[in-house]
Amino acid sequence: MSVGVPAVSPAMLASDVQTLLRVEDLSIRVGPPGRRVQLVLGVDFSMVRGERVALVGESGSGKSVTARALLRLDARPAIEGRVLLQGRDLLALNEREMAGVRGAGIGMAFQDAMTALDPIMPIGKQVMEPLVLRGVPAAQARQRAIEVLTELGVAHAQERLGAYVHEFSGGMRQRVVLAMALIAQPQLLIADEPTTALDVRIQQQVLNLLDEIAERRKLSVLLITHDMGVVASFAERVLVMYSGRLVEDAAVDALFAQPFHPYTQGLLQAIPRVDRNLDQLVAVPGLPVPPSARPSGCAFHPRCPLATAQCASEVPAMRSFGMRRVACHRAEELGAGHAV
Ligand code: SF4
Repeated sequence: MSVGVPAVSPAMLASDVQTLLRVEDLSIRVGPPGRRVQLVLGVDFSMVRGERVALVGESGSGKSVTARALLRLDARPAIEGRVLLQGRDLLALNEREMAGVRGAGIGMAFQDAMTALDPIMPIGKQVMEPLVLRGVPAAQARQRAIEVLTELGVAHAQERLGAYVHEFSGGMRQRVVLAMALIAQPQLLIADEPTTALDVRIQQQVLNLLDEIAERRKLSVLLITHDMGVVASFAERVLVMYSGRLVEDAAVDALFAQPFHPYTQGLLQAIPRVDRNLDQLVAVPGLPVPPSARPSGCAFHPRCPLATAQCASEVPAMRSFGMRRVACHRAEELGAGHAV
């Protein structure tokens, strides 16, 4: 096993020509001076063109905040670091330039379709909006809306442009949300919990659809989810977040074969698998703490069965183990004997 610093992920090893997104030392804090809360701390990762990456973690781990920061969707948080999309730092752009990136550079499909969609506006108008805002003539935007809805499996799209959200099923609503995110042909799609509210059958249909579109368009996808089953069926690489920090970055097969970080191990032990009895499922012990009460050292130490005195006082650095990165003082022991 090779251990080295600085951390290197598969995406980082790719040539710059292949790198689509590079996030460097991203930190996000909220609140007035004196009462600042650090939501995200020093997150680094890259994505190559066409790559499907899952960003996973429990509620409050910072995954959605991180994704929203890439598009600077929230006005209040103070964001530091660099977010390079094809080498262009999005955090250095003015608001007008940033508006050009939203939708065309990076499209975002929001979590809750009922909240993301306007109940009193016909869905056609909502899907067309990203193009209309860019000055695309209405007739052309309308034609693109029909095409993208059809691509997403909405039958009779032309006739349904005048329909309202309440006339669509949960699965169809999610397709409309994806259509809004994809109509301006972004290079990167951020999909925030795109299947959470759907039943298992519809969930798989939406994932299959996303899979086909990503393949056809050579689209990079950053999928935010807390569901490791969704990760297994869609992603090529996994970024695991805990309490605002990235704690593991690995190819999906390697991660499922042998998670190194004790938190990742806990997440995987909690999901049903065909090779395991239900009574072998174990939830991650304890509860996540809010960012305002983040423990010292490794934030996972109060829940970690392997914690040592060092864990309570020193934040573990992210280190490379071949093509994997892990932030844990005991990563060598945890990965010992496993191919990296
Ligand atoms: Fe557990 Fe320590 Fe590793 Fe944190 S650094 S995950 S507390 S062993």
